Amino acid sequence: MTRYLIPDACIRDIGEYEKTGGYQGLEKALSMEPGQVVEEVKKSGLRGRGGAGFPTGMKWMFAAGDPKFPKYIVCNADEGEPGTFKDKALLKNNPHILIEGMAIAAHALKAETGYVYLRAEYPKEKEILEAALAQAHEKGFLGENIMGSGARLDIQVHRGAGAYICGEETALIDSLEGKRGQPRLKPPFPVNAGLWGKPTVVNNVETFANLPFIMRAGAQEYMKIGAPDCPGNKLFSVSGHVEKPGVYELPMGITLKDIIYDHAGGIKNGKALKAVIPGGVSAPVLPPDKIDCPMDFVSVQKWGSMLGSGGVIVFDEDTCMVQVAHRALQFFEHESCGKCTPCREGTGWLRAILERLETRQGREGDIRLLEDVSRNIAGNTFCPLGDGAAMVVLGFLKHFKEEFSEHIENGCPYGRTGKRPDRPAPVQ
Ligand code: SF4
Repeated sequence: MTRYLIPDACIRDIGEYEKTGGYQGLEKALSMEPGQVVEEVKKSGLRGRGGAGFPTGMKWMFAAGDPKFPKYIVCNADEGEPGTFKDKALLKNNPHILIEGMAIAAHALKAETGYVYLRAEYPKEKEILEAALAQAHEKGFLGENIMGSGARLDIQVHRGAGAYICGEETALIDSLEGKRGQPRLKPPFPVNAGLWGKPTVVNNVETFANLPFIMRAGAQEYMKIGAPDCPGNKLFSVSGHVEKPGVYELPMGITLKDIIYDHAGGIKNGKALKAVIPGGVSAPVLPPDKIDCPMDFVSVQKWGSMLGSGGVIVFDEDTCMVQVAHRALQFFEHESCGKCTPCREGTGWLRAILERLETRQGREGDIRLLEDVSRNIAGNTFCPLGDGAAMVVLGFLKHFKEEFSEHIENGCPYGRTGKRPDRPAPVQ
């Protein structure tokens, strides 16, 4: 299996990175016209790895075709999705692959300024990245006249302040501009009116990290890896009740079963699998009979969930699903930016209903109420956070409704009924 994202041993030194073929992709890109680089990325079929899976080449095409200048490239390193820690692994173990990827993108888009919007909780990764940026400047891969090509690029690292919503690209842009990070109305899309109203391409860390291999090996070779509609490797962050949690670089299209049992060592302590969330906490949960699902953007959707960020969260047979849903909704309520009513109010209502189920105060009609509130949030919010919260609840109810009913009738079958925390009163 070809691995090109995370090396066996951590590479932070630029000399070591160059020995593995590092910066050859940039050299190749600089020998091509910017438009040819955009075409090559389009041909490769690369899809954005941040969660939505939008074709990267197409995104670039829109920005490249806009006559406005300057253009900006932004790396979204605001990795805040619970269960996802792959970008952290990339930044820590292979920071130059991101810098090289951003330099390739900058050449393709004729951008001279790039930003890395880094998650507040990653201070160590900031140090590592800034050290790598200094090395790249010194070696002439950044700054003026890159590798004698006449191109120039500066990359700055901007640390977020801990808001999950700033992982949404327009909220991220507002935050970079010094405003309160809240999603913008689209259209216009950032590719036409992004940072300070200029064409801006926002790509995830892992998306940029795919570019050096694409340029070095060529789009044709890249397409031989992974699934037909979603080529390349994917980083999967595996957590929860598995023997070997961690980040795994595997080809797109590998099954969920192979990830859990062949790579992550199976369920901890030999227990049975109860459920798995395949793409970070915003993705609907899947029951054990769906683990043959191929893990790529197209297939996971067909199987009833989302690949999202590739954060695989595994639950064993002793897990209380009401408790998991409650924790997830605590997160969404806390992180809702408050801009639109269905999300601001609805996430709080869902959390409150789940809380009374968990604390043995569930009422007849609560399950219908959960479904009703979720359906009124889904599709009626400004950004995907609200949809995510609603889909999480609907996903749990689809596969584990009996367990929710059991909580109303007899309390938690796993004995998890806890003391009611000090929170606002549940909705009536
Ligand atoms: Fe903010 Fe939620 Fe509305 Fe998104 S859906 S804009 S997070 S209130």
